[in-house]
Amino acid sequence: MTESKLQTLTKIEGYDDPIAMLEAEFDSGYRPGVPGICSNPGCDYSKDVEPDSKSGWCESCESNTVVSTIFLLGAISQKGGKPIHRKGENPNDT
Ligand SMILES: [Zn+2]
Repeated sequence: MTESKLQTLTKIEGYDDPIAMLEAEFDSGYRPGVPGICSNPGCDYSKDVEPDSKSGWCESCESNTVVSTIFLLGAISQKGGKPIHRKGENPNDT
């Protein structure tokens, strides 16, 4: 696999550049969310999600793995920064 989820999603939506895709989405104004794509390897399920979504429902994988374009962009800009999946504190972990 040589292309990122962001590139795959951009292609699915019919754009060459993810920024152009987002601008078109915001310009159109009628869609309630932004394009999102399942983060599982080998799954290209996509649908509109909330802009800050990173746990949208994938009907293909039946798991909460659909992330929004904006999250993908943010994840890419944080080179060496915070991990994408933060483990929450587990006070009840016994
Ligand atoms: Zn999936």
